This record gives sequence, C-alpha cells and structure tokens, in this order.
Amino acid sequence: MSEKTPVSALDVAEIDSFDHETDVLVVGFGCAGAAAALEAHAAGARTTVLERQSGGGGSAAMSGGEIYLGGGTPIQTACGFADTAEEMEKFLLSALGPDADAEKVGLYCRGSLEHYRWLTGLGVPFKPSLWDTPTWVPPTDDGLMWMGEFAHPHCDVAVPAPRGHRVTADGFGGRVLMSVLGDAVAASDVAVHTDTGATRLIVERHNTARHSTDRSSSDRGSADGPRVVGVVARHFGETVTYRARHGVVLTTGGFADNADMVAQHAPQLVGLPANSDGGDDGRGIVMAQAVGAAVRHMSAGQVGIALVPGMMVRGMIVNDQGQRFVNEDTYPGLVGQAALFHHGLKVWVILDQQAYEEVPEDQRWGVVPHFVAETADELEREIGMPDGALRTTIGEYNRHAARGEDPYFHKTARWLRPLNPPLAAIDVRRGITPPEHGDAGGGGAEVFTLGGLHTTGDGAVLDLDGGTVAGLYAAGRATSGLHSWGYISGTSLGDGTFFGRRAGRAAAGR
Ligand SMILES: Cc1cc2nc3c(=O)[nH]c(=O)nc-3n(C[C@H](O)[C@H](O)[C@H](O)COP(=O)(O)OP(=O)(O)OC[C@H]3O[C@@H](n4cnc5c(N)ncnc54)[C@H](O)[C@@H]3O)c2cc1C
Repeated sequence: MSEKTPVSALDVAEIDSFDHETDVLVVGFGCAGAAAALEAHAAGARTTVLERQSGGGGSAAMSGGEIYLGGGTPIQTACGFADTAEEMEKFLLSALGPDADAEKVGLYCRGSLEHYRWLTGLGVPFKPSLWDTPTWVPPTDDGLMWMGEFAHPHCDVAVPAPRGHRVTADGFGGRVLMSVLGDAVAASDVAVHTDTGATRLIVERHNTARHSTDRSSSDRGSADGPRVVGVVARHFGETVTYRARHGVVLTTGGFADNADMVAQHAPQLVGLPANSDGGDDGRGIVMAQAVGAAVRHMSAGQVGIALVPGMMVRGMIVNDQGQRFVNEDTYPGLVGQAALFHHGLKVWVILDQQAYEEVPEDQRWGVVPHFVAETADELEREIGMPDGALRTTIGEYNRHAARGEDPYFHKTARWLRPLNPPLAAIDVRRGITPPEHGDAGGGGAEVFTLGGLHTTGDGAVLDLDGGTVAGLYAAGRATSGLHSWGYISGTSLGDGTFFGRRAGRAAAGR
C-alpha cells in the first residue's frame, strides 16, 4: 500500500453503489479477526473478512502459540494445579501494569474457562503436561508452562499457578492455532476476501447518534458523530468498496513495522527489529484515528530480549556498571523491558560452567559465551566494566545465594546458587537465533507494540469524549488490550481471541 494512500474517512454520499455488502466486516485475518468473524457469524450476522495478504494467519501464525488461560482449566487440573479466576486476575494486574485495564482483565479472567472450552471445542489442542523451567518456547510438546507467576513481586499478591497454555506443536504452535481457526472459518459461511487491504473507513456524517458508554450522561447519545458504515479497500490495484450494515471490526495488528509511527509514539523502540509478520503498519489504528478514535498506551512495547531464559535464571543479568537490576526468574519479556527502557540493552548474562551445562543443548539456541575468565576481576576487565563492579555484585550474590536468599531482588531459592569460577558473560546485543521464527539478530531484542485503539470490553472503539464511534469495533494488537506497560507471553493470542470474539458478537448485535 502506498504511503500516500489517503487515510481520511470517505463520506458515504460520495459512493454511488457499493461493490460488496455484508452485516459485519472484519478487517484482518489473524487470531483476533478469525475469532471476531466466527462469533459474528455464530450470532447470525452475514460476515466478511478482508485480508491484505494472500491468506490468513498474520503474526499469530508465526507465534509460539502460548495462550494465557487459567481459573482451573482441565490442563491445569491434570497437571496438579488448583487455580481461580481471582488469583489469575491479581497476577495479571500486577504483571501487565502499572495501570493495566482492570475492566478488561476482570472480564478476561472470569471468562477464561469458557474461552478455553471455546478454543478446544474448535479443536485447538493442549497437552496436559508441564514444562517446568524458564524458556521462550518449550522444546517439547508440553502444554502448560510458567509465565513468571512464581516470581517476585507477583507471587506476593497472587497464589502462583502456571497459566501458559501452549498449543500442541512440534516447535512454535501459532501455525496450529491459526490452522484450526482458519479451518473453522472455512467451514462456515464467512466470506474471506484475500489480497484485499483496507485503506480508509466510510462514514455517514449526518443524522447519526453517538452511543455513550456512560448511560447516565444522556447528552452524549444525541451528539452528531460519524457512523462507520463501510471500508474502502485495494484489491490488485483496484479500489473496492464494502458496506457493513452492522459494524466494522478492525483486527489489523499493531504498528511495530511502521517506523514513522514508532518514532512518533514509542521512541524507545526505534531501531529495533520488529517481532511480527512484517505487516504491522498500524493502518487500522490510523484509519480509526481519522474518524476521531482515541488511543492508549501507545509508547508500550513487548521486548523480546535476545537471551536464553534458562541461562539467565541460573546465573544473573547485569548492566554496564556490573549491577543486577531485576530478579532473573521473572518473565523474560519483563527483563527485556527493564533492560531496554532503563539500561539501553547494555546488559550481560553472567553464568558459570554448571549453569551453562545445565541448559540442554537444544534449548541453548546456539548461544555460546562471548567472554570467559578465571576470576570476576578478569571478566569485568574483558567486558570493560568499572574496576570492582562485577566482583562486588558476584560477591554479594554468592554470599546470600549460599543461604538460598536474594535480599536485593528476591529471586526464588530454586534458582539461587553461588556462581563458581571460571565465569562467563554473554553480550545480549549480539543476538540469538531461535530454531524457527523470531531471529532477534543483532541489536539485543525484537519488539512489538502494545498500544492501540481505546476500546470497551465489547470492542467498541471509544472517541476522545469517551463515547463510542458508532459502527466501529476493534480487537487484538490494533487495540490497547489488557496491558499497559507490562507483558506476559500468551496475553496477545489470549487477548486477541477473547476480545475478538466479544467484538464480533457486539458488532453482530447492532
Ligand atoms: C515470533 C512471534 C512469537 C509470538 N509468540 C506469541 C505467543 O506465544 N503468545 C502470544 O500471546 N503472542 C505471541 N506473539 C504475538 C502475537 O502473535 C500477536 O500479538 C498476535 O498475533 C496479534 O494478533 P492480531 O490478530 O491482532 O494480529 P495478527 O495476528 O498480526 O493479524 C493481523 C492481520 O491483519 C492483516 N492486515 C493488516 N492490515 C490490514 C489491512 N489494512 N487490510 C486488511 N488486512 C490487514 C494482516 O495481514 C494480518 O493477517 C508472537 C509474535 C511473534 C512474531
């Protein structure tokens, strides 16, 4: 799509006749779009999906297939863990904050068991076995994993239970998830128009009502805002128009691939490779902004730091002053955010031979130490840290670890052990190469954006006055979902499918 393609909304009065008509028009066929389309269709709406690529999938099909679910799923129970929606909610509010969307987190946790049943009812497979050590993606087909629930400070506010439900796959499970969702869409009457990229919304500007989310403020309902009634799209160089009688649902993904938008909204992510399918250009977000939509948390980003979690948790991570700055057993994305936002990714994983060798070779992702030394003094000289900095940190760490304690950052006793020479350091900025997608390359991290359209729990897009933009819904990474700044793996596929379903149902009901 040309960058010069206009994004401002087209007035319906300028259209003689629409090329296509439907009840609900879903834009984007990733996980959120598939879920929205299935539920809009199930609610009785004629539904059409537009997808810019030649097939559905989006970033969801490249993903690890980890979905954050809990509240006592059959997988948790089979693995011997009790869980409740309340504990899940407390954890997510702690891990996704500060200022995670409390309403959405509450809906998500209370609806998690039903959502698990919906996914498995469609045929999404989860194996009832636990992968018990920190990793990005288990090398086995285990279906349950920890996402930092045991780590400080979250374990102080919520009873820990593993909630990372990993779609059964040989490797990354996202393609299995999208194949199941895609098959369900194909088996329905949902029309899928591929190679069709939406460029702008079509609105009715007069005699329309804007619907307030605040039922007590009656003055808002009569406001004269635009009503979204369709979409302009490009299909092999031709312009095509779609009328959506009930609503348009934007599920177009985030904006990590749009350098201008990243520079404008999330400057701390500038210059880092995007963790995406390459199509996160933010088009859906700006199309909605052009009709007055509000956005939230646009500066927030997931930071897939280029390290092997199993090595970090057995050793320590330090900045260029040789100082620790986080507990190494927390979800590695939270380590990545701390490393990028506060230390410019100038960070090193420090470990000893035992820690390195305890990580099985198939989980090392080819990472070998960049510096090896007989003493901490020698190691800090090789790295270029201030004299005594790393020696002091290792001395303090070892002194407390010998007693199974970490008074600085509260790493759990399971991972505490004095580090013994020879010592090694891994420079995170040199990158890692996962066996499948997600090659972080150099630079130390891959990122995607967490901010986006401000929506209600039913996916209605909010405007700057807090009313809803009539006829417009959104879900997935095009929205600011559960998160504010924090991130836990599984909350993107989870958030996208859960709120995609709600948006599809709400759009169908209008
Ligand atoms: C390597 C990798 C691993 C990941 N692992 C996990 C994981 O294990 N768990 C997890 O929760 N998250 C994971 N994620 C993140 C997750 O995949 C995404 O956040 C999620 O897929 C977002 O879902 P979505 O439906 O909003 O967007 P997408 O899945 O990206 O789908 C958006 C779709 O919209 C289409 N589109 C965009 N613009 C237009 C337009 N203008 N017109 C028509 N179509 C358009 C795109 O082509 C795309 O198909 C991972 C991501 C990557 C890249």
